Amino acid sequence: MIIAIDGPSASGKSTTAKEVAKRLSIMHLDTGAMYRAVTWGIKQSSINIYDDNAIKNYLYNIELYFDENNHIYLNNRNVSDVIRTVDISEQVSIISARPEVRKKMVEIQRKLGREFSCVLEGRDIGTVVFPNAEFKFFLNADVDIRAKRRFSELKKKNEKITFDEILKNIKNRDRMDSSRVHSPLKKAKDAIEIDTTQLTINDQVDKILERIKNK
Ligand code: C5P
Repeated sequence: MIIAIDGPSASGKSTTAKEVAKRLSIMHLDTGAMYRAVTWGIKQSSINIYDDNAIKNYLYNIELYFDENNHIYLNNRNVSDVIRTVDISEQVSIISARPEVRKKMVEIQRKLGREFSCVLEGRDIGTVVFPNAEFKFFLNADVDIRAKRRFSELKKKNEKITFDEILKNIKNRDRMDSSRVHSPLKKAKDAIEIDTTQLTINDQVDKILERIKNK
């Protein structure tokens, strides 16, 4: 069973996907973490982010996987924390628009989805990665609410960033992710849209589980 949950940044995808997967006892795959990890790796390797050949060569040799606690590893290094910085958030939409990056990530995601029942969250799961997924959801919320959610998350981690900077980053990523040529962020025609502006995480999870049980 494949459950696709797409939507823009901070729309509530991660927490919802994690909880839905837990309740159904299936795997949760945070595809945004994969794009963030590769962004971190490419930056560490000082590769020109517009050089598709260099990116292709870099990706050919990487090992990217999650452990049983959903920590993400790049070449045997746990990068779960370093990929959540403001710096990576500012670069990730540029790197995730590169066709070679998308090709490699989609390949890994499809392989996992063929092997395991899975809740996958991202931007293109219902449109590109698994267009025939049994269940597709598209989460969205007012941009100010999304920025507030991200701001309080980062505050807890003591990241030095203002609300306005976060709002700007989210708006930028929305624009870049939605307007890119390859696999832009968009709602699949057959996805169920859930506006999470006024919802709690429990409401979101219940809505999704209800749909799944009804089918
Ligand atoms: O979900 P998260 O905000 O961590 O994703 C980070 C970035 O990764 C997004 O802004 C987007 O550029 C990219 N991404 C993507 N396709 C996905 C998941 C994430 O392009 N399926």
